[in-house]
Amino acid sequence: MLTLGIDVGSSSSKVVILKDGRDVLAAEVVQIGTGSSGVTRALQAAFEKAGLTMDDMDYSVATGYGRFTCGGTDGQISEISCHAKGIYFLHPTARTILDIGGQDVKAIKLDSKGGIKQFFMNDKCAAGTGRFLDVMSRVLEVELSEMADYDDKATEPAAVSSTCTVFAESEVISQLSKGIAKENIIAGVHQSVASKACGLVFRAGVEDDVVMCGGVAQNRGVVRAVSKQLQRPVIVAHNPQTTGALGAALFAYEQAVKRSRRKEEQEAV
Ligand code: ADP
Repeated sequence: MLTLGIDVGSSSSKVVILKDGRDVLAAEVVQIGTGSSGVTRALQAAFEKAGLTMDDMDYSVATGYGRFTCGGTDGQISEISCHAKGIYFLHPTARTILDIGGQDVKAIKLDSKGGIKQFFMNDKCAAGTGRFLDVMSRVLEVELSEMADYDDKATEPAAVSSTCTVFAESEVISQLSKGIAKENIIAGVHQSVASKACGLVFRAGVEDDVVMCGGVAQNRGVVRAVSKQLQRPVIVAHNPQTTGALGAALFAYEQAVKRSRRKEEQEAV
């Protein structure tokens, strides 16, 4: 059975094609989100990789901020449920999930069966989200994918004390003009993101294992800062930007199985 999960985020579009609820045939990311051509491009790339078309899909589920703008799918499910589903599939020992996306942060607590016990979300403020890092990467003229390399070389992280992104941007500009090394400013920026995101985790209550997902989990500087603040190891999910789409494809598989059973029962009558 073939199922499709689409995660239409605020900053990126993710697609996962799954075989029999188990094997990932394709997992594609396009770094532009809702309202853009991102979903179409991610779908094209995934179908090409798997050598399949939309007609081959038995069931499809959309998730993410822009899930209702994504026509032609069989269902929509919230990203909290989809991230929980995807992470539990990859890491059944996960009890705390920290998802740092482009415009929001989510802390989710799971029980031993993967059920959601509690969650907290910040989608009101850019601090502690990927957007904060996007702004800083532009000001610092360092690619997002290189921010961690700078952080690795930091000797004395600079304090970025403003929680407001606009004020923090001014703070970083002022640090640059004072000649503070980019390595130390970037480590300070990462600590600021981690401290805001960990606030949500502490509200939810930390329980091992802690797993990070979302685009920002690709930045090991932020992961290191999160681990330090939580005072415990943090696991980064495999292909962390696609765990929501993976969860959507897993839900799609459950629906596809139910639909096929109903069909068999009807045919037996
Ligand atoms: P959403 O689902 O809300 O669209 P994502 O989970 O895709 O968000 O995360 C998007 C964020 O991930 C971006 O704002 C950016 O800060 C970060 N990001 C994307 N690619 C990379 C990368 N290669 N290295 C570090 N951070 C990245």
